[in-house]
Amino acid sequence: MNVLIVHAHPEPRSLSAALRDVAIAELTAEGHSVELSDLHAMGWKAVVDRADFPALDAGMRLRVPSASGQAVATATLTEDVAAEQEKMRRADLLILQFPLWWFTMPAILKGWIDRVYAHGFAYGVGEHSDRRWGDRYGEGTFAGKRAMLIVTAGGWEPHYSARGINGPIEDLLFPIQHGILHYPGYDVLPPFVVYRADRLDQAGFAQVAEGLRQRMRTLDSLRPIPFRRQNGGDYLIPELELRAELGAPGATGFALHLETSDNRESSDPDPSR
Ligand code: FAD
Repeated sequence: MNVLIVHAHPEPRSLSAALRDVAIAELTAEGHSVELSDLHAMGWKAVVDRADFPALDAGMRLRVPSASGQAVATATLTEDVAAEQEKMRRADLLILQFPLWWFTMPAILKGWIDRVYAHGFAYGVGEHSDRRWGDRYGEGTFAGKRAMLIVTAGGWEPHYSARGINGPIEDLLFPIQHGILHYPGYDVLPPFVVYRADRLDQAGFAQVAEGLRQRMRTLDSLRPIPFRRQNGGDYLIPELELRAELGAPGATGFALHLETSDNRESSDPDPSR
């Protein structure tokens, strides 16, 4: 399997970098080939601006979605963006790895998403009709591929539990796992989260590293998070609201978008996944 790791940490001697190296070593030992985008080491440009669209006429107002779609259609994206898109196309598994900063990913990684996820590549894909609303949420460019997060967090695990003050980790990660990964088609594997990361000593690191190696060894048998598919019949089109008969009565929020929220068996034909 081809794996792309997108790593976002400014310090090569950080815990995050050490975990990245553990993952790469284990994946390589398992016979996978690994590509790495180390965003700080690459000097990644983190903001979308006019320089991203060199073919755009100087007198034209910049409208990012249309300029982006035009650049995809005419193969005039900048080289750095085109190279990352090629890496994504080659990869069967995408891993985004980052420290949790202000409850989400660091800005440089968000900037990678903003620039690489171009119109006609990661969004604006597929036909819109009265039966389909584009190829999104389980369909799209990355359908059939997998993605997952490796995240370190300063907070304690209970702070991120169902009743924890920070909110449940699966809610905090929902915009990334559902909005950024499932949206362009990925099946999303459960995240690997390291809590109390700032306090980790060598014994703690050994334990975390072993957990990560174990995770890298069992990727094939992991079942993806059972996000509902947009065009699978669960949502009204064009409202894209979950049908009234689905989901637990009175339930609201992110969990509604899991197939398991209405106690229905997953439509996945292979329950071992
Ligand atoms: P590092 O600082 O590199 O290391 C952490 C510890 O691991 C150190 O004590 C280090 O000695 C030890 N360690 C053990 N073994 C090794 C090894 N082999 N190699 C390297 N180090 C090792 N946390 C939250 O929970 N929620 C937030 O919203 C949040 N927001 C933040 C916002 C900002 C701007 C910042 C700076 C931090 C925030 N944090 C937050 C904390 C942040 O998530 C952690 O600081 C981060 O995850 C720790 O990972 P690191 O790779 O930076 O660790």
